[in-house]
Amino acid sequence: MASAFPKPEKRGKKPKKRLPTKKVRQKKAKAKCLALWSKIIRAKGACVFIGKLVGRKWHERCSTPLNAMHCLPKGAYPALRLHLDNGMAGCGEVHMYYTKHPEEFGILLRQFWGPEKTEEMLALARTQIKIDYEAELVVLEEKAREHGL
Ligand SMILES: [Zn+2]
Repeated sequence: MASAFPKPEKRGKKPKKRLPTKKVRQKKAKAKCLALWSKIIRAKGACVFIGKLVGRKWHERCSTPLNAMHCLPKGAYPALRLHLDNGMAGCGEVHMYYTKHPEEFGILLRQFWGPEKTEEMLALARTQIKIDYEAELVVLEEKAREHGL
């Protein structure tokens, strides 16, 4: 006999809790790595461009917060994405200026690194590597501790 009242809805199977896939774990670790890289670079202190000529203007003081700038861009040179020598602390304004003027930045970078270091970094930049972000995160966390962060 059919009841006048609706039957309780059948509960579906409880979805199995899936462990995040390697791809998801890597993605999360990558974001953490970049944040940590930035923190370590900024811990170096102030904008390195203070008192220097940026474009046609002397950079006397910063009006924007400190950024961690990639020397060689992290998109084009993934091998140097988390390299601590591939970063410099610069305020947002300078960061923006040099992002828009990569040729000028290239000249400056050679001075910043010096000829030997520049060659070393360029050689590294050309290497094709697949970064294991989970492993890299462990290394960066250790470095951050060393910097007292
Ligand atoms: Zn500045």
